[in-house]
Amino acid sequence: MAKRTDILAKIDEWLEPGNFQDYAPNGLQVEGKDEVRTLVTGVTASQALVDAAVEQGADMILVHHGYFWKGEDQAIRGMKKRRIKQLLNNDISLLAYHLPLDDHPDYGNNRQLADVLGIQNPRPLGGLVWQGELEAPLSPEKFGLHLARALHREPLHVGDGPERIETVAWCTGAAQGFIGTALDAGIDAYISGEISEPTTHTARECGIHYYAAGHHATERYGVQALGQALAEAFGLRHQFIDCDNPV
Ligand SMILES: [Zn+2]
Repeated sequence: MAKRTDILAKIDEWLEPGNFQDYAPNGLQVEGKDEVRTLVTGVTASQALVDAAVEQGADMILVHHGYFWKGEDQAIRGMKKRRIKQLLNNDISLLAYHLPLDDHPDYGNNRQLADVLGIQNPRPLGGLVWQGELEAPLSPEKFGLHLARALHREPLHVGDGPERIETVAWCTGAAQGFIGTALDAGIDAYISGEISEPTTHTARECGIHYYAAGHHATERYGVQALGQALAEAFGLRHQFIDCDNPV
């Protein structure tokens, strides 16, 4: 069992959220009980995740995608009311970390994805984009199969890159706009979560393989790593709940 405030202080120390200009508040978004025994982690604080956390007897939920995004309706009504009401009724805290959890050198989504995909020498390339090498060169088809097996989801592959993929760059989530960072570095293949219409043309015309591997699928791993580290530091019961999302 641990104090909510001690857990928050520890995450502040590890993730340093104050260093980020983000699209949503990082840290405590909804305050619940003071003491925490059970921590549930998930990608997005959807109704399904909150309901599943209530069933698990959660005292705290930790997610990558929380609430109160810039530009959204500030009123608490409809879908947002139902989610927050369920949290408040059950005295569950909601903690959300967005960019600090993409970027972190150990617990970050990008760093964790390298382990899931078996990418060698993972290191930052520029901005939030990371780079590394495959253990052995793969054909574009074989690399697509590798992604599907590792992430349990078939990726969308576009673009005309080299016949063998050796170097890869990646950024989890809606990071298709960073494909230029991989191009500038002469990388064979770029992976992100989502794709946009122009991404196809860029990949075809600039000679790079692009894989849209799923926003949800690529961002499952940072929050699990952080949750596990907190469980060990504070002796919490920790459960990751995967509410699947095909996007
Ligand atoms: Zn995301």
